Amino acid sequence: MKYALVTGASRGIGRAIAERLAKDGYAVLINYHSNTEAAEATKAAIEANGGQAELLPFDVSDGKAIEAALTTWDAAHEGEHISVLVNNAGVRRDGLMVFMSEEDWHEVMRTTTEGFYHTTKHVLPAMVRARHGRIVNISSISGVSGLPGQVNYSAAKAALIGATKALSKEVAARKVTVNAVAPGFIATDMTADLDEAELKKTIPAGRFGKPEEVAALVSFLCSDEAAYITGQVIEIAGGIG
Ligand code: NAP
Repeated sequence: MKYALVTGASRGIGRAIAERLAKDGYAVLINYHSNTEAAEATKAAIEANGGQAELLPFDVSDGKAIEAALTTWDAAHEGEHISVLVNNAGVRRDGLMVFMSEEDWHEVMRTTTEGFYHTTKHVLPAMVRARHGRIVNISSISGVSGLPGQVNYSAAKAALIGATKALSKEVAARKVTVNAVAPGFIATDMTADLDEAELKKTIPAGRFGKPEEVAALVSFLCSDEAAYITGQVIEIAGGIG
């Protein structure tokens, strides 16, 4: 069995990626933080399509929790390993820099960068040994260009881009690819509070993207055909930028 771990797969983009990778033939590990009902719904949707999935809750901002969950998974799956990792879980805590609390700064940074560090560090050795692996980090156009009101989020997503580029060079010879996907505005719970009618006037494509469109890109990056693409940041933003 080929296993794919998708962090933040209970809702939004992560859910669409989990469903798509299950259609591609992966047994999907659905990570989430607290919304068990939504995670169960993702699992049920995958199983209804004949796919395989299991729940793997942990808080990506908590290194010890990540280590404990993945070590327990390893022990229950002797001889198997995770060959696809999608670092997708993320949060927004927007506000102008002059008003930004230390808590909002650290929460966004921790969720993105601690999550990347601990999850990737745990699954990478098995990928390297197997001479095959796919890591996709979900960044944002905010991390590419910077957006006002998102100094914390832009910093965290830019950190993910730097990590993607550096790690890709470390493991390319071992046939492990590492890429970042940078979405623009995608219709999910995360963007539900935004003024879509107003914002879509700034998007050349004239609309928000769909989680399934991001999932299709991630699916390609995880495929055998994408073996020669590594260290890239691929924007999926309807022409913004
Ligand atoms: P979403 O609808 O808000 O869903 C967030 C997901 O992340 C949920 O599954 C949530 O789990 C999980 N999560 C949040 N904090 C977590 C934590 N500490 N530990 C584990 N899981 C956690 O978000 P989305 O719009 O799908 O965004 C997914 C990713 O795409 C994020 O990294 C986001 O920054 C990025 N992105 C989104 C957009 C956009 O326009 N939507 C644009 C660019 C980039 P629970 O259900 O348990 O809370």
